[in-house]
Amino acid sequence: MNPCHVCQEPTKNKCSNCNLVSYCSVQHQKQDWKTHKPSCHPFKIAHNEQLGRHLVATRTIKPYEIILKEAPLMRGPSQISAPVCLGCLNSIEADDHIDCSECGWPLCGPECKSLDEHKAECGLTKDRGDKVNVTEFNGPHPLYTCLSTVRCLLIGETSPEKASKFQELESLESTRRGSNQWKADLTSIGQFIPKFFKTQKFSEEEIMRAVGALQINGHEVPISDPPHVAVFYTASFVENSCLPNLAKSFNKNGHCILWAPREIKKNAHLSICYSDAVWGTADRQRHLMQTKLFKCACVRCVDVTELDTLYSAIKCEDRKCGGLMLPIKDDDWNGSWRCRECHKQVQKHYVERILERAGQDIHSMEKNVESGLKYLKHYEKWLPPQHYHMSEIKILLVQLLAKDQQELMVIPDDRLLLKLQFARELIELYEIIAPCEVRMLGTLCFELHSAIAEQTRRVALETSLSPKDRLEESLFYVDKCVNYLQYESDIFVEGHMLKQAKINRDALRMVTRIS
Ligand SMILES: [Zn+2]
Ligand SMILES: [Zn+2]
Ligand SMILES: [Zn+2]
Ligand SMILES: [Zn+2]
Ligand SMILES: [Zn+2]
Ligand SMILES: [Zn+2]
Repeated sequence: MNPCHVCQEPTKNKCSNCNLVSYCSVQHQKQDWKTHKPSCHPFKIAHNEQLGRHLVATRTIKPYEIILKEAPLMRGPSQISAPVCLGCLNSIEADDHIDCSECGWPLCGPECKSLDEHKAECGLTKDRGDKVNVTEFNGPHPLYTCLSTVRCLLIGETSPEKASKFQELESLESTRRGSNQWKADLTSIGQFIPKFFKTQKFSEEEIMRAVGALQINGHEVPISDPPHVAVFYTASFVENSCLPNLAKSFNKNGHCILWAPREIKKNAHLSICYSDAVWGTADRQRHLMQTKLFKCACVRCVDVTELDTLYSAIKCEDRKCGGLMLPIKDDDWNGSWRCRECHKQVQKHYVERILERAGQDIHSMEKNVESGLKYLKHYEKWLPPQHYHMSEIKILLVQLLAKDQQELMVIPDDRLLLKLQFARELIELYEIIAPCEVRMLGTLCFELHSAIAEQTRRVALETSLSPKDRLEESLFYVDKCVNYLQYESDIFVEGHMLKQAKINRDALRMVTRIS
């Protein structure tokens, strides 16, 4: 028995959404809902030595359930940014913008001037006495480096509540202090802000803490072009895992939506991937160490086989062997590698040479079908078919092999089969190691469903075989696609795909019911 949140009367009834507060009656629950609602989530904020604050599920979370929708505390330009409008954060052209009449910072139009978010740097620039004059619009602009930090420092001017929440965020200042990144930030932000804005408002320490909090907690938000950076409060307590249980989407207002692609058990820790689950382990770990300053020890990172997918393995140096090589030590991707079959060992630089060249070749490759197929043929000497570089090319090929419905109708049979094969392989692989990469999985499911439907059409033309099984399979994947993409806004490609997927799903449901 727990006391009712309203009248203290002992009761067994709890709020069924969060499982955290008790009510003696429906009336008292209703009465309290307005105050309780903002903190009513199916998780609680827990604390321990090793993780600091983290989120724990307070009940079983159903598949596709949204567990948190949150507006940002602050948003602004990325630290490395070409000039963008300081209202909507979209890029601007030299000959197509206005300068803010008060501060001189470029805006795309008058409607963007009145946005609250611009007030921070606008006021600080006015106090400086001199308007800003941006004349270079191509490439990263040094003046923009400090702007998001300025916005963090001035959150309190529009909302003291947001300011105190921002203060709670981790900045890892003592860990960062003295590193190369920290030194660069000190020059371009810490010492730059007082000098440029002619202000004594902020101490160097205060500024550097804000820089750290921004780097540690910043999310890249793709609703603007280029993407901007935003800091969220509750979402910042979600811990990292390279095999997370939450997917992250953004609505068109830039609010963050965290949801569960699969069921999450009560008491499980909630997690998202701070790096990119599509990268191999060595790359994810390097990225996490550089940007978030920690070594990841999640289930995927401590397993060199990455859940038996051998996603980062290379082929044995001995071509006749046919085995695969992986690091000898589970947690040391920079040491020697050994073949799992013949136990032959190679040094780190042998592996590095192959992977670096394979990476550079993807980078410089023309993104078309012929180059993609050539790449796969060339690198099959060193990399197994599921390797992350090979998989990246296949993701590209699944989309390039028939880019739309018209192309799909005329694509040669052998190419259609390739599209089917790659899409199936990739969905199977990524549902194991990256089940929360919902935009990629949704896209692959969409491509697969349409390829299956096209194959069905072709077979039906030649034989009188019942296409029912195939159509049901096509329906299965388009259903999956809708599930994966259901929270994607129509400002994104995936949002458009979602609309089409729903139309196709309904049509397929009709057909499979009739046949
Ligand atoms: Zn009560
Ligand atoms: Zn509740
Ligand atoms: Zn704008
Ligand atoms: Zn202004
Ligand atoms: Zn990890
Ligand atoms: Zn071998």
